[in-house]
Amino acid sequence: MSDYEDLGMFIDGEWTAGSSGERQAVVDPATEEVLAELPLAGAADLDRALEASRRGFAAWSGMSALARQVVMERAARLMDERRETIARICTLEAGKPLVEARQEVDFVIGVTRWYAEEGKRAYGRIIPSRFPGATQMVMKEPVGPVAAFVAWNFPGLNVIRKVAGALAAGCSIIIKASEETPGTCIAIARCFEEAGLPAGALNVVFGVPDAVSRHLLGSPIPQKVSFTGSVPIGIHLQKLAAETLKRCTLELGGHAPFIVFDDADIDAAARLAAFLKFRNAGQVCVCPSRFFVQRAVFDRFLDAFAARAQAISVGCGLDETTEMGPLIAARRIDAMERLVQDAVSRGGAFCTGGERLGRRGFFFAPTVLVDVPDEAAVMREEPFGPIAPVVRFDDGEDVIARANRVNPGLAAYVFTRNGARASMMARRLEAGLVGINHAGISTPESPFGGVNGSGYGSEGGIEGLETFLRVKFVSELRD
Ligand code: NAD
Repeated sequence: MSDYEDLGMFIDGEWTAGSSGERQAVVDPATEEVLAELPLAGAADLDRALEASRRGFAAWSGMSALARQVVMERAARLMDERRETIARICTLEAGKPLVEARQEVDFVIGVTRWYAEEGKRAYGRIIPSRFPGATQMVMKEPVGPVAAFVAWNFPGLNVIRKVAGALAAGCSIIIKASEETPGTCIAIARCFEEAGLPAGALNVVFGVPDAVSRHLLGSPIPQKVSFTGSVPIGIHLQKLAAETLKRCTLELGGHAPFIVFDDADIDAAARLAAFLKFRNAGQVCVCPSRFFVQRAVFDRFLDAFAARAQAISVGCGLDETTEMGPLIAARRIDAMERLVQDAVSRGGAFCTGGERLGRRGFFFAPTVLVDVPDEAAVMREEPFGPIAPVVRFDDGEDVIARANRVNPGLAAYVFTRNGARASMMARRLEAGLVGINHAGISTPESPFGGVNGSGYGSEGGIEGLETFLRVKFVSELRD
């Protein structure tokens, strides 16, 4: 496939097929055709990456913050020049519509530029000393080499949130992007390489995920682990990290409530609901997945929402008219069918959708369900797909209790024109990100992350830089 990326691993400043001889097919989820074969790392390759990250850390952290900024901005410029190429790679491997892939690349560039700037502001502080003649300084230092693992749903964004944050702080990083969507990460890494990043500051590896993480986290070299993916794998990695006391940032699952009060702009809420729910075929960790609508406006919201869901054109992401692409793999179709069957067996009913579309490609219809009890699996487990259960609620207390019943607390959305109610909801919802009357919860400059079972530690904003810094206190007395 000529449009697709030439796949390899990036270790110690060189592109390599590794020494294991193992390969894994990368599949286009829209056609089920093999795009390319991805080389996988063996233990020797991972050892090389670890040693390279140690040297890369010395080189990169030894440069001035201003010099690091120049390299990162050059990388962002290269990404900008290659925007369309990278977007097509992203669409081919992840299935998302080109328009979404282009937006993702723009976000990747935005994050890179923002962190290029912000790396200069890793300020410490001076503490007025209680010891006469002493200067007391709080210094911020990069934590050291980082090991990162990310999911496939945003092949560029998940990668850059870790890479740009780590590099801005002066850390080196070994990243294992998803074996299902390696091309976007590789295309981004090429931009950093050509921008003049020192060898070893960024290493990209692929492999058998559990073997790679056990190997990297078993080493004393990485000082930090950053993971974006599911809750069970996050818990597993935190346990592995504990053995060598590495600090962790865990961006895990969500199950966002989307709460519409009867005083909201119902049509605007329904429009946004459909956009957010079916973007990337629902494979978004902050995607709304439980729709609570106040009883008086339930029918109006449902009619508008379901009409939009029915009108979505589903197809290959490369087709410019496509609004929703396929799911990433056959296992996600199985998951959708299981959730739908469970909901229906518990009294839920279809408003629209509910089944696989076609026999080639992993397409599933935009699905709206009603009368789904809170006990149904889809109300408790993150669907990570295009299924929207819409249920009624009576008052604020009722909906807060139901929204907070599910443990992962990543995003929540509230629609109301009542300011007092809006701030009460923002305070009481158990979530790391709350959108009120809109969805602007993810930007390069704002902290992004969950609470409770959704993990901890932010990416984005100054908080995302802090997670790659450590504190040193120096108290100095001079003659
Ligand atoms: P997953 O946890 O199985 O896989 C996610 C990634 O982790 C994949 O790239 C996989 O290769 C890798 N992985 C799997 N096992 C690993 C191991 N033992 N060591 C190292 N890496 C390993 O999740 P999934 O079901 O494929 O992805 C969807 C999940 O990711 C959802 O729960 C979603 O909410 C979550 N997610 C969260 C965010 C966020 O920012 N909070 C963003 C995207 C996805």
